Amino acid sequence: MISIDKQQNAVQASPTLSGLSFSLDLSVLELADNQPDPQILYDLLVIGAGPAGINAAIYARRKGLTAAVIGRTVGGQVKETNIVENYLGIESITGTELTAKFQSHLQAYDVPLLRGRTVTAIRREGEDFVLDLDDHSHFKSRTVLIATGAGPRQLGVPGEKEFRHKGVTYCAICDGPLFSGQDIIVVGGGNTAVESTIDLARSVRNITLVHRSVFRAEKILQDRLAQLDNVEIKLGYVVEEIKGDNRVTEVVIRHLESDRLEIVPASGVLIEIGNKPASAPFQDLVDCNQWHEIIVDANQATNVRR
Ligand SMILES: Cc1cc2nc3c(=O)[nH]c(=O)nc-3n(C[C@H](O)[C@H](O)[C@H](O)COP(=O)(O)OP(=O)(O)OC[C@H]3O[C@@H](n4cnc5c(N)ncnc54)[C@H](O)[C@@H]3O)c2cc1C
Repeated sequence: MISIDKQQNAVQASPTLSGLSFSLDLSVLELADNQPDPQILYDLLVIGAGPAGINAAIYARRKGLTAAVIGRTVGGQVKETNIVENYLGIESITGTELTAKFQSHLQAYDVPLLRGRTVTAIRREGEDFVLDLDDHSHFKSRTVLIATGAGPRQLGVPGEKEFRHKGVTYCAICDGPLFSGQDIIVVGGGNTAVESTIDLARSVRNITLVHRSVFRAEKILQDRLAQLDNVEIKLGYVVEEIKGDNRVTEVVIRHLESDRLEIVPASGVLIEIGNKPASAPFQDLVDCNQWHEIIVDANQATNVRR
């Protein structure tokens, strides 16, 4: 049976076979109708329509401020996630469904949203701020909230882009369960990579942990790792290429000292080499640290004041 629930903006399908049911939320397919107005001087413009940006805009509206959101994508990293588990009150939900909920929450407060646009710079205009967008449009605001989040650092090797979502992932702990019973490679040597490896060793068949130098992970994690008999540790190696057909089937790794190449059969490549803040357009305006993270005080304020 298929029914369309207009109020919920969703298509529900409930086949008679037990256990088979799904719902497709149509709101993610629609463009937000309430667009920001370039003529208005807003109290607050939020850059980024991930969970942080959407949340901030909703609370700004609740406080009675005029606010709008400009974001390249809606949902941010959540949209990229297959399954989000244990968001309090929701045991399990797809990233797409959660994003649709975020968006309808924003719409309920009638917050204007411009999606598919990138802010390329923030300029001062007297006390106020002007946002320059990639389509050469401009928006003005008394205050700006930068919620552009981060993206995963990438290896930059052949096959990485081609096999993204086809075996290549950037969140071992979120996507690891997809590789249950299979052979995988985890790349990285920090706490996240090692912790993920320890966790996943329970559900996958074999893990090869590849890292270019020595581990940065805490000693206690390294000790736990050493006790696992289905984990092979390859220190001093880098990933050279990810290969496959429709999905990943093998990974070529290179021993840095000898330049020797090895082929590791694997159906998953879980890359955990850190995140890169999406702060490039704002580097000339606000103070950033050596990792390009924006420096804020205890109130999350930058060095740029009204
Ligand atoms: C695969 C994966 C699985 C995850 N699973 C979980 C989980 O299960 N539970 C959990 O709590 N967390 C999870 N996370 C982490 C969670 O998604 C992030 O912590 C969260 O999305 C951060 O929110 P944010 O709004 O700060 O930034 P982001 O989600 O990064 O959103 C930033 C937004 O800003 C936009 N943007 C960037 N630059 C510009 C610009 N110049 N102009 C306009 N827009 C711009 C981006 O397009 C994006 O929409 C997961 C992350 C990944 C990648």
